[in-house]
Amino acid sequence: MERYDLVIVGAGPAGLTAGLYAARARADAVLMERTAPGGQVLNTYMVENWPGEVEGISGYELAERMRKHAERFGLKFSTREVRALKPDGELKILETDSGEIGAKAVILAVGASPRKLGVPGEELLTGKGVSYCATCDGPFYRDKVVACFGGGDTAAEEALFLTRFASKVYLIHRRDELRATAVLAERVKQHDKIEILWSHIPVAIEGTQAVEAVRLKDLKTGREYSLAVEGAFVFIGNQPNTEWLKGVVEMDEGGYIITDQDMATSVPGVFAAGDCRAKLLRQIVVAAGEGATAAFAAQRYLEGH
Ligand code: NAP
Repeated sequence: MERYDLVIVGAGPAGLTAGLYAARARADAVLMERTAPGGQVLNTYMVENWPGEVEGISGYELAERMRKHAERFGLKFSTREVRALKPDGELKILETDSGEIGAKAVILAVGASPRKLGVPGEELLTGKGVSYCATCDGPFYRDKVVACFGGGDTAAEEALFLTRFASKVYLIHRRDELRATAVLAERVKQHDKIEILWSHIPVAIEGTQAVEAVRLKDLKTGREYSLAVEGAFVFIGNQPNTEWLKGVVEMDEGGYIITDQDMATSVPGVFAAGDCRAKLLRQIVVAAGEGATAAFAAQRYLEGH
C-alpha cells in the first residue's frame, strides 16, 4: 500500500496552503484532489478581499498562483477521489478511486458545494438554464433576462457579474434585507440592471428543453406567478462535502466538521481546515489561515509519533 506521513484531501485555498506549509517543512506529504486545484475560488470571477491584491484578482488566477506556489516548494499532487477514511490506530487508511493509501496524519480540506433549491424543474433543467456558477455560464446569457436566487455575498457578487452580459438580472431573496456585506449590498441596490424581488421564494423552475420561467411566491401577499427568464442562477449557500465522513469525525448538525483551535478533529491525527469546518466565517483568507494551522499541527502530531 502507498504510504505517506501526511495526506491532504482537497485542493482549495485551505488544502493548497496546508500543502505549501507541509512542503516547506519538507514533510512526506501528498495533496489529493478529484478535479482541478482551486476549489470554489475557481467559480469566483473576481476576489476583492484577498489582502494585498488592491485591485482584486480573478479567482482563476488566485487558485493558479496558490497551486504554483505549493508546487514550487515541491508539494506532490495526485488527482484522485478519496471515498472513505478508516482510522486504524496510528495509521489512517484512505480509500480512493485508485486504491488504498495509508497516512499517519490527514488534513481534511474538502470544502463545500452549492446548495440546491429543491424545487421541481431544478434537476431536469440543470445545465439547460439552471446554473450554480455565473463565472462558468454567465457569457451564455448575453442580452437575456436571468434570475438569481439568494441574498448572501455570493448572490450579490454573481448578480453583479451577470450584469456584464444579461439585459436584466432579477435578484430573488426570501427576506426583505440582504445578508451580503454592506459594500456589495449597496452596489446591488444601486445597479440599474438589477431588480430585487424581496420576500420571494421559488416554487418551481419552468421549461421543458430549457428554462423559460421561474415560478415564484410573494411571501407578503401569498401570490404565485411565473416570471419569464432564460437563466436561473442559484446562490443560496453551500453544504459541506463531508457526507463520506459521517460517523468518522465529529460534525455539527449541518455536517460541518468540529475541530479545536488547532484544527484537530475528534480523531487523533486527523485535522480539518477551510469551508468544511464548523465556524463563523467562510472566506478564502480564513481557509488559508486554517490550512497553515492544520499543517503546523499535523507536523507536531507527526513529531510526537
Ligand atoms: P450564505 O451567506 O449562506 O447566504 C445564503 C443566502 O441564500 C442567504 O441570503 C439565505 O437567505 C438564502 N437562502 C438559503 N437557503 C435558501 C432557500 N432554501 N431558499 C431561498 N433562499 C435561501 O451563502 P453564500 O452567499 O454562498 O456565502 C457563503 C460563505 O462564503 C459566506 O460566509 C460568505 O460570506 C462567503 N463569501 C464571501 C465572499 C466575499 O467575501 N467576497 C464572496 C462569496 C462568498 P437568508 O439571508 O434569509 O438566510
